[in-house]
Amino acid sequence: MPKLLSGAPVVQTLSRLVAWDTVSHRPVTELAGFLAERAERAGMRVERFETSPGKVNVVATAGPASEDGLLLSGHMDVVPVEGQAWTSDPFTLTRREDRLIARGACDMKGFIAAALEAIDRVPVQRLRRELTLVWTHDEEIGCHGSRALVEQLRREQPDRRLPRAAIIGEPTDFRICRLHPGHTTFEIDCLGRPAHSSRPSLGLNAIRIAADVIDIIDEFSLHLASRPAHAELLPTPFTVLNVGRIHGGAAVNIVPERCTLTVGMRPLPGSTAGPLLAELDDRLAPLRAKAQAQGGDVRLRLLQSSEPLDTPAACGHIHQLLPFANDRAVTGAPFATDGGNLALLGLEPVVFGPGSIDVAHRPDEHLREADLLRTVDFVEGLIHARCCAEQAAERYL
Ligand SMILES: [Zn+2]
Repeated sequence: MPKLLSGAPVVQTLSRLVAWDTVSHRPVTELAGFLAERAERAGMRVERFETSPGKVNVVATAGPASEDGLLLSGHMDVVPVEGQAWTSDPFTLTRREDRLIARGACDMKGFIAAALEAIDRVPVQRLRRELTLVWTHDEEIGCHGSRALVEQLRREQPDRRLPRAAIIGEPTDFRICRLHPGHTTFEIDCLGRPAHSSRPSLGLNAIRIAADVIDIIDEFSLHLASRPAHAELLPTPFTVLNVGRIHGGAAVNIVPERCTLTVGMRPLPGSTAGPLLAELDDRLAPLRAKAQAQGGDVRLRLLQSSEPLDTPAACGHIHQLLPFANDRAVTGAPFATDGGNLALLGLEPVVFGPGSIDVAHRPDEHLREADLLRTVDFVEGLIHARCCAEQAAERYL
């Protein structure tokens, strides 16, 4: 049992949540078990969707099935703390002035704690429309949990319709974000032919091929930057490519046989990774043909992809969030979330939550206590508006 921080019940709940070291790649079973137990205790039906040993997504439901209800979602994993200068134990919630400090306090166990507290305040047995909670694993390393959940639901429950109004409680400082880019990771393997470095004409230098690939990626980036969209909502309003890692060569006296580039791409809302990768692959074709003619090759391989988000501005739940928002302007988030994948189920996710993305992933990550308390009120208010009110919520303005 972790040392609980004194204060409101939601602060104590957050103390418990951050005490589980759920850095991505580690098992999430115990935290998932706790969240399932809390939902069951509140009278919700709980399903556990296991992706692999130690990796589970939790879905909890209450009220009659209805697409007009409300879905709340958050990820259970957090980013690592190694190499960061924390001034207190990252897995013990610590109060300093009005700040609650711990890994995950802001991104995004604070929202999960607030949702649990809000559910304890509403009449779960008497909801008029469905309330669903979706707690995912491994969001921070590419939204793997939500992708697996979407695939599993489509396969095993093809007729299931979840509430379309979905809130992804990532830290947006209470700003409403209805769209964001996706994130795709791929590798390009450049294959050459090894030779003694004193006889370069007998080999084909894979690092040299990789340099040409980087030039082609740069040209493609310039082309994409010339096609901006959503400039009023996104700080970088075009699809971004980043050559993030390079690995090649074996020794200084060997013509390198292999060089691999790992590339990240952030497709704009409204686009998908597939056609963009096909376009890049077309641009690589002449270089590939030249390499193949000399016994080498250039191969592009998709590693993972999470979808961009593009929820219509006219959704009823966006209107219902306005009283709780810091800013009436609806905007976009620069980072990817589970919302992109969940939209594949026909949902209309909106990213909206407490805390600032500027302190997330950093040492002494924190959430203001007042913002945590405010989140309980906002979640409770939204559940009342969408799941309890007699009138079915208007779908569109
Ligand atoms: Zn997050």
